[in-house]
Amino acid sequence: LEPAYAFMIRTRTPGGVVTPAQWLKLDHIATTYAERGLRITTRQAFQYHGVIKTELKSTMQAINAALIDTLAACGDVNRNVAVAANPLQSQAHAQVFAHAAALSEHLLPNTRAYYEIWLDEERVAGSGSEDEPVYGPTYLPRKFKIGFAVPPYNDVDVFAQDLGFIAVIDATGELLGYNVSVGGGMGATHGDPETYPRLGDVIGFVTPEQLTQVAVAVVTAQRDFGNRVLRKRARLKYTIDDRGLDWFKGEVERRAGFALSDARPFDFVHNGDRFGWVEGGDGRAHLTLRIVAGRIWDRDGLSHLTGLREIARVLDAEAGDAQFRLTPNQNLVIAGIPAALRARVDALVAQYGLDTHVSATPLVKNALACVALPTCGLAMAEAERYLPEFTDAVQVLLDAHGLREAPIHLRISGCPNGCSRPYLGEIALVGKAPGRYNLMLGADHRGQRLNTMYRENVAQPQILEALDPLFARYAGERRDEEGFGDFLVRAGIVAPPRSSIELQLQ
Ligand code: SF4
Repeated sequence: LEPAYAFMIRTRTPGGVVTPAQWLKLDHIATTYAERGLRITTRQAFQYHGVIKTELKSTMQAINAALIDTLAACGDVNRNVAVAANPLQSQAHAQVFAHAAALSEHLLPNTRAYYEIWLDEERVAGSGSEDEPVYGPTYLPRKFKIGFAVPPYNDVDVFAQDLGFIAVIDATGELLGYNVSVGGGMGATHGDPETYPRLGDVIGFVTPEQLTQVAVAVVTAQRDFGNRVLRKRARLKYTIDDRGLDWFKGEVERRAGFALSDARPFDFVHNGDRFGWVEGGDGRAHLTLRIVAGRIWDRDGLSHLTGLREIARVLDAEAGDAQFRLTPNQNLVIAGIPAALRARVDALVAQYGLDTHVSATPLVKNALACVALPTCGLAMAEAERYLPEFTDAVQVLLDAHGLREAPIHLRISGCPNGCSRPYLGEIALVGKAPGRYNLMLGADHRGQRLNTMYRENVAQPQILEALDPLFARYAGERRDEEGFGDFLVRAGIVAPPRSSIELQLQ
């Protein structure tokens, strides 16, 4: 008798954009095949958890029938391309999204194995037709992540990406091109100084026409020079640190066939989401909803899956070109809502309790957590399931110090792989063992400075004990608009880490 294997399936959804019709299909798949509803990842993908082995193929085929695939959502290839989710200027944002989607397509592996295995396509192996000009016969040494940011918001945490593109938009709203950042990455291993989180370095500016060439140059340089001996050091960040940034930039320019222009000025104000309604500038509006840890389900008194299904039905019938956009902060933007439907959407949001952003404190709204237990095999400690309890406890402390509205960014990961980008949290917990975490402090809230270790391997009582006096000082000594992480660094409570975009910008 075979064990009851259950699987996680992750979609490839560049920028996390699906139509209302696709949402309805994804919802149907969740209720038919998965155990834990729909989950929004920090890379704007959907994850289905608990899909049993005998239904794996049916699930994959149902996803494909929704015109969505899971191709290259895992593995040593370019992963789901992340894109700023919450547009300030709809026109430029649409262009950025189109560039990101095109790049995602361009960097897909050519292999037909996915189609043969899951979609019953006729086998083509041996025909010699699977040439991989980008990946070659051995693919990349390790996973590869790309993100597109649209200042002033850094919701994609562009400096946490192997390859980041920062949109440069002029005063008229025209997209001029992108600053290019290389070598970001969050993953590390406890106790191994050879591994560490790193922020990307900005190496120049490219026009939209140069985008694909430079991306292919970066990916193939990593393919050819990435570490294939030590898997823990196989990410682009280590290739750059081992060989030098100047060398890497030269290699990219040689492969691209042109020199990068000087980077253009940019300014990020924060790396969170903007909640509630935002006008799109084209008569339509976008509504950002808070989804705790990205989990959408009907459980524990919640009916969020049902509520979003009802909204999708309305939009599918009356505004089929509206969009559901997953944010890199695990939230959901319902975008492109015509003015005539706003009141109905608002009523459904209220009816199904999807309006938690209205009353939630900034701490709760901005908090991230990876999946961790019970579904991630790498988890050392709880994250998603622990998030509400921990934010409640921290909120009590903040309230006691008059800091209820302090917009502190909190992140929890169940292990040092850092799927919730914890090293960019002003306060972060990184799992060490059940109930025990490394407490990391001092990132900014713009995704431009990493945090540093403050307490190692501590449980909740020690974590709260450590935070309490820091909140007291922050309440009494902070400057206007000064973030908690910025205060901790200015006050000398934590030292800024060595890799800092702020230092580059000085
Ligand atoms: Fe990622 Fe580790 Fe969290 Fe698993 S436990 S989701 S590998 S950070």
